[in-house]
Formats: sequence, structure tokens, C-alpha cells
Amino acid sequence: MASLARTAVRLHPRPGEPSAADSSFGGPLWWPAGEPWPACAVHADSTVDGASIVDVMARRRILAEAWARPRERGVNLLTAEEKVVVDRVDDGTPIVQDGPLPMVPVAQLYARDVPCLPRPDGADLLQVLWCPFDHEDDGYVPSTVLRWRVVAEVTDLLIDPPLPSAVDDNYLPQPCVLHPEEVTEYPAPHCLPAGLAREVREWEDRESARYQYDLSVAPGCKAGGYGPWSFSDPSPMSCPDCGADVEPLLTIASSEWDGVKSWQPLEDAEVVHPPYPAAHEPTMLSIGRGYNLQLYTCVASPAHRHVTNMQ
Ligand SMILES: [Zn+2]
Ligand SMILES: [Zn+2]
Repeated sequence: MASLARTAVRLHPRPGEPSAADSSFGGPLWWPAGEPWPACAVHADSTVDGASIVDVMARRRILAEAWARPRERGVNLLTAEEKVVVDRVDDGTPIVQDGPLPMVPVAQLYARDVPCLPRPDGADLLQVLWCPFDHEDDGYVPSTVLRWRVVAEVTDLLIDPPLPSAVDDNYLPQPCVLHPEEVTEYPAPHCLPAGLAREVREWEDRESARYQYDLSVAPGCKAGGYGPWSFSDPSPMSCPDCGADVEPLLTIASSEWDGVKSWQPLEDAEVVHPPYPAAHEPTMLSIGRGYNLQLYTCVASPAHRHVTNMQ
């Protein structure tokens, strides 16, 4: 198995107030003032079925406060005033987007926090943005844009990036700080050579161990490692620019762990979780109702275009 070991960095996002100088999910980006902000042409000059960022953030704040306060039996969770704000996110009122739809920051990773990240020569910062709506051409997930930067070259920061008039609330990441942790991963059982897979099964029987769920591929938001194939078998992917193989760059997950607790951080086991927001869903992203969006990068050159896969 040793030759198949790969390093992954579990990012452990937790709600916080990251600055542009921090690695983050959903935080401000270290973005040069003179560089155009990425925008989506598909959703330009259209009515979009979503909610304003102000309303989405207000709903999250109201629900978190409501679940945290003591409540008598039979008393409604929300006050009438709160319910108006919370319901507005889902009321389906179309919102007009004038001009191209500005993308939203999803992730920012400084190389100092994720040293194993495959990156173009000299680059020490990865930024990921997306259009916060499903894109048919991308497999009904948000359309993603990547930027590699040299941190020291950005001296004049963009302070006030443009915002979309509306978002799909499943695709607006809650601002999170990261707590990177290096782990060692191994391929999922169905990706092992047949002989090795058989040996692993025999070892599991002998040791009452669970290779797939406890030892192979870590769940949650992470850089590198192996892809969490779920509803489909691994399918070949290649670089759209040169045809070379691709490797996992970033996994954007809907949750940090699921029923299997072995990947749950010990620190979180001690926390008495309020029912909202769930401790294992810190980014509040929901990819295809609970899956992962994986970004893959070319093994020949990380500067080539990336590919994505929902699993
Ligand atoms: Zn779009
Ligand atoms: Zn390539």
C-alpha cells in the first residue's frame, strides 16, 4: 500500500471572520485593484431565481440565534418578524441582474497553509470563485474560475468587489477560517488493483477493520489526496489543454463527515451542537444535495485549465 499513499490537507473550515490575508472559505480575496473581477456571462442581463446575499445572511443569522435561545414547548421557533425575513429567501421572486453576474469567492488557499498544493512556478496563492447558480454546461453545478497569484506582486488591494444581485443560497459559502491538517490517504477499495483489494478485504475480516470508511479517502473540504467517488465509478478525466492526466486539487464538500465518526475531529465531539448551523456543515454549501464538487488539475502543468466533477 505504501506506494499508493498520498498526502491530503483537510481544511477544517469553521465559521469566522477571515481577512484577505488569510486562507478561507467564503472570505475576502487578496485581489489586485486593477484586475477585472470574474463575472458570469450566462446569467448576465437576466432575471435570476435566487435571493439577495443580504437576505441569505440574515436568514442564517436569525436561524442560528433562534435555535440557540431557550424555548418553551409549543412556542414557535421564530417571531413573526423573523419569519418574514426567513421566508423571503424561498419566495421565488425573480431578481434582475443587470450586466454580467459577478462571481462569489469560494476558497482562498495560501501555499504556507497547504504546502503540498500542486501549483505553477512561483505562485503561492490559489483563489477559487464561482457563479452561484447551476450551469447546465458544467453538469448542473456552479461554474468555477481559478486564479493563481504571487502574493508579493499584489500591493494595491481591491476593497469593494462587485456582488451579484442574487445567489442560490446553497452556493453562498459562509465565511470560514481554515485549520489545515495533513493526513495520509489511500485509494478507495474499487480503485485498488484486484489482488491488493482482496488482501485488504481479508485483512478487514481478520482485524474487524473498515478500510473504505475509516482509512482510505477523507471526507470534507480538502486539498490534494484522492477523489471521493460516490455514485459513479471512477471515470477517466484528462487535461483539456494537453490531454495529460489530472489529479485532485480541491474538494468542496457539503459536509465535513457523515455517519462515520472516525473522521470527526475530536474537538467537535466535545461540542454540544445546536441543531443549526450543524457543526459538520460549516460552509453551509450544498452541492447537488449533499455531494462534493471536486476540482482537478493537470499533472503536467497546474497552469492549464482545471476540470470539475461532482461526486
Ligand atoms: Zn452563471
Ligand atoms: Zn495539461
